[in-house]
Amino acid sequence: MDSLSSQIIDQLRRSDRAIADLIAKEAERQETTLELIASENHVSPAVMHAMGTCLTNKYAEGYPGARYYGGCVYHDQIETIARDRAKQMFGCRFANVQPHSGAQANAAVFMALMEPGSTFASLVLKDGGHLSHGMKINFSGTYYKPVHYPLHYGVDHPRREQIDYDAVKAICREHKPKVLMCGYSAYPRVIDFKKFREAADECGALLVADVAHIAGLIVGGAHPSPFPHAHVVTTTTHKTLRGPRGGLILTDDEELAKKIDKAVFPGMQGGPLMHVIASKAVAFGECLQDSFKAYAAQVVTNARALAGALVERRYRITSGGTDNHLMLVDLRTRSDKLTGADAEKWLEAAGIICNKNGIPDDPRPPRVTSGVRLGTPAVTTRGLREQDMTTVAEFIDRVLAAGLEGESPLATTTATVREQVRDLCRKFPMPH
Ligand SMILES: *Cc1c(COP(=O)(O)O)cnc(C)c1O
Repeated sequence: MDSLSSQIIDQLRRSDRAIADLIAKEAERQETTLELIASENHVSPAVMHAMGTCLTNKYAEGYPGARYYGGCVYHDQIETIARDRAKQMFGCRFANVQPHSGAQANAAVFMALMEPGSTFASLVLKDGGHLSHGMKINFSGTYYKPVHYPLHYGVDHPRREQIDYDAVKAICREHKPKVLMCGYSAYPRVIDFKKFREAADECGALLVADVAHIAGLIVGGAHPSPFPHAHVVTTTTHKTLRGPRGGLILTDDEELAKKIDKAVFPGMQGGPLMHVIASKAVAFGECLQDSFKAYAAQVVTNARALAGALVERRYRITSGGTDNHLMLVDLRTRSDKLTGADAEKWLEAAGIICNKNGIPDDPRPPRVTSGVRLGTPAVTTRGLREQDMTTVAEFIDRVLAAGLEGESPLATTTATVREQVRDLCRKFPMPH
């Protein structure tokens, strides 16, 4: 932990021991485990500490220069810097930095672009989409009408488990959606934004690219940009962008920008989280540094290395590999008996944190699954490199192999690997 964070926890302990102790335990958990959840990262002390400031005291409803409360002079300047840096990162003309989260950014964009009941096209959750892209019980599936485009599912297809762009066009022709969504939570391949724009143009849809997962790779030059193809881009700020938890909306279109600003406030939200917006500005500043390019490239290099090392150990990587920061591991090629739920639990006991994840066409239910999703953004932040990915793959395989043998071998192996994970983590401290 960085020294300011420990001072803050010590200070907090004097007024609220229970919470301070739990925060300290969580810091210790993060420091001594390998974080392979693809949507997580470790922020810098600067990003962390901008959040814990007096900016939280203030109401700043509205936008810079047009607030509904007095006393916003510094808040205006902070939000303006955040917006300018966001625009610079993506090379676009308009940014809204106020969404409290990625899902709320999407909700605001839906509100700006569609009447309730309108049809939109997206990838379904079980194939790697996000719940805000049309899940039945989410706002997106309750107040709008989702239609879904498929992947190539055939086991012999050369582009198995990749987006079927012809089918995207066919779905658009058939359903004439108002919005076409691309961008996913569990898709390991490059997204062809140009092809999506062609599909959108053919049916008169607006293209929304939700780059929540890959935003940092885009900014760091490790994935093609959705601009100039997408009409609107949404993202989280806490995944590969390595900022505070939050959302961000971008566009090049002035008319759409006006609609989006209105939809965020007063449409979806009240007062903005100005302490988080300050932290977003700090994170964006870090993303604009040259070192962030090296980080983004290393994230991808590490993901390839991890995928390769797992393939050597007889795991199947869906779609045959990865182009970005994440991979879906099909556990069944290692053993028919392996499930995602068991793997997640066993690996956690060894200090390796990941999540079970359905693979395309998964025969098992979502609570069980046949896969795990692994990502390299957080371990790359700690400084792990390709050669360390081989070590991580070996840890993973030892734990899963032991789990297949039974409870007692599993207990012995997880205890040993847990210590080895601790040692590895000591070599790669958290950002400080
Ligand atoms: C993570 C994610 C989101 C939502 O982010 P929250 O901040 O958790 O609401 C939206 N879209 C995609 C594709 C995501 O992966």
